[in-house]
Amino acid sequence: MPDIDKRFVQAFGAAPDIIAAAPGRVNLIGEHIDYSDGFVLPFAIKDRTFAAIRVRNDRKVRITSMQRRNKVVEQNLDAIKPGLKGEWERYPFGVIWSLGITSGIDIMIDGHVPLGAGLSSSAALECCVATALNHLFSLGNSLEDLARLTQRAENEYVGVPCGIMDQSVSLMAHSGSALLLDCRDLSTRHIAFDVASSGLELLIIDTQAHHSLTDGGYAERRASCESVVAKLGIPSLRELSLNQLASSRGMLTETEFMRARHAVTEMKRVMDAVEVLEKKDFASLGLLLNQSHASLRDDYNVSCPELNCAVDASLAAGALGARMVGGGFGGSAIALINASHTTQTIAAVEKAFADKRFKAPRFFTSLPSQGAEVIQRG
Ligand code: ADP
Ligand code: MG
Repeated sequence: MPDIDKRFVQAFGAAPDIIAAAPGRVNLIGEHIDYSDGFVLPFAIKDRTFAAIRVRNDRKVRITSMQRRNKVVEQNLDAIKPGLKGEWERYPFGVIWSLGITSGIDIMIDGHVPLGAGLSSSAALECCVATALNHLFSLGNSLEDLARLTQRAENEYVGVPCGIMDQSVSLMAHSGSALLLDCRDLSTRHIAFDVASSGLELLIIDTQAHHSLTDGGYAERRASCESVVAKLGIPSLRELSLNQLASSRGMLTETEFMRARHAVTEMKRVMDAVEVLEKKDFASLGLLLNQSHASLRDDYNVSCPELNCAVDASLAAGALGARMVGGGFGGSAIALINASHTTQTIAAVEKAFADKRFKAPRFFTSLPSQGAEVIQRG
């Protein structure tokens, strides 16, 4: 844990009442299907964001982040409503709003989840604040409640139309497992994901690319899925089989058909991934990752040259499988590699990026880690 308690005293003049932490995440497989009521299979990474909070006896909210040069933002609790302009503090303010907090507080944020790298630093931030507030004020929200409330904060307060996956895994993950999450009812199953004992490692490659298409591109993909659902008169793409999709092709535009094909095949790949993980068949898992990438690249059109380069270079260097993760148009890719090949895989990806004159990528590795938790009470 960073020395957030000492820094809190320096910034606010008293010790925090509570400190909570929440991790970022990587989605092993099941991309762009959380908003289609699908199954996803993410895991929490070891990097976490911490929130230290103290109750005030007025209605002021003061907040600062070590990742934002420690500048203190101050606001009256009554002004914290959707529409209030702001920067990064809109994420924690959104949580304060969605949880219905009625007392002033001081908050300090510090953490290691890389920002904007597709590892969901936004969910880590929301979930550490929500976990701390839930315990501090004895709100009694379950983890499912907190997932919906933090998603609401990001959707309605920050204005990002994200699905429910990131917050769910940041809150519910168990160490050593991936989380099979049914996005329709938020039911979960913890699936052992023990790469290390098989001599493998999951390399995370942050391409450092952020293509400006991101926001519009995401909304457009969701709109295509909604349009297919409306045209076919089904509750969600979860209810669509590949056969039905093929026989309904004439009712859809070519784009809608491709978007729906990604969703339907990706949902099947998630269930296949669970099966192969239960058998520790990592070679088959690698193939599923490759198929997922091809589907996101060709049918869903959310990859980009940097992500394709990271995937192709990892595979050429001997990875068992690789794919883009997250919303796309930049962000990170993952590669399932032999743990003894880490250095050479990194070198190969770095060289491929340099050859194409892309910005140098960053690399992380992580074992599946624990979800949000209270780590100190004052
Ligand atoms: P991702 O979730 O993939 O990291 P997003 O764009 O969804 O990318 O969220 C990143 C944003 O979340 C940052 O630009 C910042 O506004 C906010 N954020 C996340 N972590 C922190 C932090 N530790 N301190 C301040 N702001 C943060
Ligand atoms: Mg995010």
